[in-house]
Amino acid sequence: MSVLIVGSVALDDIKTPFAEHKNLLGGSASYGAVAASFFSPVRMVGVVGEDFPEEHMELLKKRGIDLGGLQKAAGRTFRWSGVYGPDWNSRETLSVELNVFETFRPELPDDYRRSPVVLLANIAPDLQHMVLDQAEKPGFTIADTMDLWINIARERLVELLARVDMLILNDSEAKELAGESNLVRAGHKLQAMGPRYVAVKKGEHGCLLFGDGGEFFACPAFPLEDVHDPTGAGDTFAGALAGTVAAGGGPVDFALLRKAVVRGSVLASFNVEAFSLERVKTLTADDLDARLEAFRRLTTFE
Ligand code: AMP
Repeated sequence: MSVLIVGSVALDDIKTPFAEHKNLLGGSASYGAVAASFFSPVRMVGVVGEDFPEEHMELLKKRGIDLGGLQKAAGRTFRWSGVYGPDWNSRETLSVELNVFETFRPELPDDYRRSPVVLLANIAPDLQHMVLDQAEKPGFTIADTMDLWINIARERLVELLARVDMLILNDSEAKELAGESNLVRAGHKLQAMGPRYVAVKKGEHGCLLFGDGGEFFACPAFPLEDVHDPTGAGDTFAGALAGTVAAGGGPVDFALLRKAVVRGSVLASFNVEAFSLERVKTLTADDLDARLEAFRRLTTFE
């Protein structure tokens, strides 16, 4: 089964305590689609401008991603720049240029409308709604979001929660959106707002998955000595999770989501090892299997 992914496609300028790079391929849809492509066919919906480099397009094509829903508009591609502090946990957005995103309206090609799994990667909730308006009863719908939308589009985000099966967000966002300082209570409150499942990301401390009837799954992040650029870790996590759900090929249950969360964590661990998609684009099936096996040893005790 394939997964439909809508989100941002960006050119990023990123500064870390050790290096600085400009014009990198970024955006929630780029990271999400490439990550998902390791597990299932992917259809991508987004927009780029006339300045979008051919080499980035080639990377997406090389991963077999269906780009039938990627619009090319007159003007410049969405641009984002950010800087990381010495502890990697604090990231400051330096600038955002919406450019072609300002007038972007997602349009699903006819053959995309019946997508069994839909990932609404991080973009404005209004655009996420527009995708659901065009999709014909997807089997499983996942929404990602960020603090910006909780702050400036809360009402539309809350409306979206009633339309999705799963919500992905980080711990501070979960607490803020639920209006609750205890993470477990926040997760349950978010479930009561609509999504049957909630995945709360905790950065280098992993992820907590909330299921039916008070069911939990805690998944660590893979321990790494060298982090080069955490940008896109969350989008990569969401993409690998959605790709795994699509690869499941049928009804979604907690066992499949546990597997999906582990694959999300593993793909995200590769993503932070280099800037942009530089590490993930060279990833082989053997690399992936080896780290999944290491992850298994890390998390079992008998
Ligand atoms: P993450 O590190 O998972 O939060 O994702 C970072 C990516 O999100 C970067 O590649 C940015 O280009 C993209 N991004 C930043 N701000 C926004 C925004 N407001 N809407 C959509 N994508 C964004």
